[in-house]
Amino acid sequence: MIDDDEFCLALNNGIFVGPIGNLNFCCNNSNLKFINENSNIIEEYNSPETKSEIDQGWKKSKRCHTCKNRESLGLYSFRHIANSYTPKDYIVDNNNRKLLLLDINFSNLCNQKCIMCNSNFSTKWLADDIEITKSPDVEKLRWKNLNPKYKRLTDLQLNQILELVDHHTIKMWIKGGEPFLDDRLIPFIKKIQDRSPTIQSEIITNGTMMTDLKINELNLLNPFAITISIDGVGNTYSFIRDFEWNTIDKNFQNLMEKLDKKHLIGIQITVSRYNVDKLTDIIEWVESIELKYDRKVMINITMVNYPNYLQAKYASNKILKRGLRQIIQIKKDGVLSNRGKYFDSKCDSLTKLYEDCLKNRPKLEDQKENDRLANILSMTRSNNFKNLF
Ligand code: SF4
Repeated sequence: MIDDDEFCLALNNGIFVGPIGNLNFCCNNSNLKFINENSNIIEEYNSPETKSEIDQGWKKSKRCHTCKNRESLGLYSFRHIANSYTPKDYIVDNNNRKLLLLDINFSNLCNQKCIMCNSNFSTKWLADDIEITKSPDVEKLRWKNLNPKYKRLTDLQLNQILELVDHHTIKMWIKGGEPFLDDRLIPFIKKIQDRSPTIQSEIITNGTMMTDLKINELNLLNPFAITISIDGVGNTYSFIRDFEWNTIDKNFQNLMEKLDKKHLIGIQITVSRYNVDKLTDIIEWVESIELKYDRKVMINITMVNYPNYLQAKYASNKILKRGLRQIIQIKKDGVLSNRGKYFDSKCDSLTKLYEDCLKNRPKLEDQKENDRLANILSMTRSNNFKNLF
């Protein structure tokens, strides 16, 4: 019997292969190790080091601090998401560790430059991050351990991941970088689905590469979910992602029209100080497209944890209050139904977060310092957020 409070499926049966060769149990864990092109992923998955991490459990593990922090605040954590995939006949067997949850990033190659991202996830940030590593603000400005380089899993490593997958594997997330920039993506999904026909696959993409050719290839796969990262509409989107909104709008509509209905379409909103009060805009846009194509869109919400100065708590009182009113209205309007199993709890988490932010305002010096850091980055695209609205 699994004691839910003590248990984490990601820790026991998951692997996260990050975009710069960082290996771990899930995307919320801090890095267990970095692999190079000669590393064997099967050996890493079964290594004594990995096993000893599992043995201590998530509550004692130093790597699980994000889940611990979130849960101590009463927020929904990635552990809750991971555990929602636990099979009914689950048996703990760490000597014969089956891979149940796979989270894979092929590389850090990307064609967007999102304000909350860095060169670990997007090669578009490489040039800036090389400069930033020389700056006295490096520790404060970007995430720690920056090593601005292009990294990519080898074909051999992709095959090793495939070997770990069998009919036990329940869930696969594919992220990036931008996964559709890699031609190995669709053949890889096909092979995974051959090994685990009932696997729930989810591709998280920026949606910039949604050509008819790609959509036709995707239509040949078993059912999967595709999630497009959309953090705002119009100018908000363009500022946050440094990319033309009209192109994304057009691509998204093309997908809604042409992707076979056996596949699910969703969006993922990453909440930062820049879009705290933009949820209504996004929901209205989604609803208009759903109506046009007679098709539902799942909505997922994540929140910026790092870099700190982009967190929602650094938005002004006025914006936080407006954000809070919007979520209350969204709940009243019944938007929650049919939006995917996490939307409801994510909206609750967001409500709690905004309320906490309003109760515990950052100290004035902290606010000023974080505004200074945010401005340094927002000016790299010669487009200061404050001047947009
Ligand atoms: S407790 Fe959280 S951070 Fe730790 S392995 Fe589980 S999901 Fe990942």
